Amino acid sequence: MDIGEKIKELHTSLPQGVELVAVSKFHPVEAITKAYEAGQRIFGESRVQELLVKHEALPKDIEWQMIGHLQTNKVRAIVPFISLIQSVDSSRLMECINREAERIGRVVDILLEIHVAQEESKSGWDYDELVAYLQSEEAATLHNIRIRGVMGMATNTDNETVVRADFDRLASHYTEMKQHFGGEFNTLSMGMSDDYMIAIECGSTMVRIGSSIFGNRY
Ligand SMILES: *Cc1c(COP(=O)(O)O)cnc(C)c1O
Repeated sequence: MDIGEKIKELHTSLPQGVELVAVSKFHPVEAITKAYEAGQRIFGESRVQELLVKHEALPKDIEWQMIGHLQTNKVRAIVPFISLIQSVDSSRLMECINREAERIGRVVDILLEIHVAQEESKSGWDYDELVAYLQSEEAATLHNIRIRGVMGMATNTDNETVVRADFDRLASHYTEMKQHFGGEFNTLSMGMSDDYMIAIECGSTMVRIGSSIFGNRY
């Protein structure tokens, strides 16, 4: 299947209520254009420099999302146009995004990345530390970010039981937080090319799919 066919296939096969983020990192503008022409509008990138170049080159009705680790010194460059920052993994980053958004009079949507995988190398909040921070006075002053939900990655393994347990844990954190946040907190971003079907069974509302749309990255 080519890129356009794959996008159309995903648009018809993903269940209602599951949003597709096409992860276009490391793939050229031409590849993104093919997905765009097939109707895809939401794209995820993991590096700021690459995101800026693509944002400049491509149609303005694309919703760009940041899915990779974000350094605070790169926040200012993306805050004017980014539609969702998925990979928010520290209080310092939350405060930085809030400050930059306030500076230009925007409210920026974010997800909180929670660490659920077994690998220590994976990024994200420790859930208990996140909850403690969200109850703090500092967190209560962040009026220029809107917390829309959580994001996470499962352990990188073929063992489906392990992957499912990671997604179940993330889903239960999401459900617990949703009771506190309510309405606008409605996004559970989990599932990539190799595990998105399991993620959907565990309650995902947003899948981030790269290689199965665009092919392998080099
Ligand atoms: C690269 C990436 C994806 C997409 O991974 P694929 O296996 O290519 O589908 C999803 N989420 C994050 C955070 C990524 O960095």
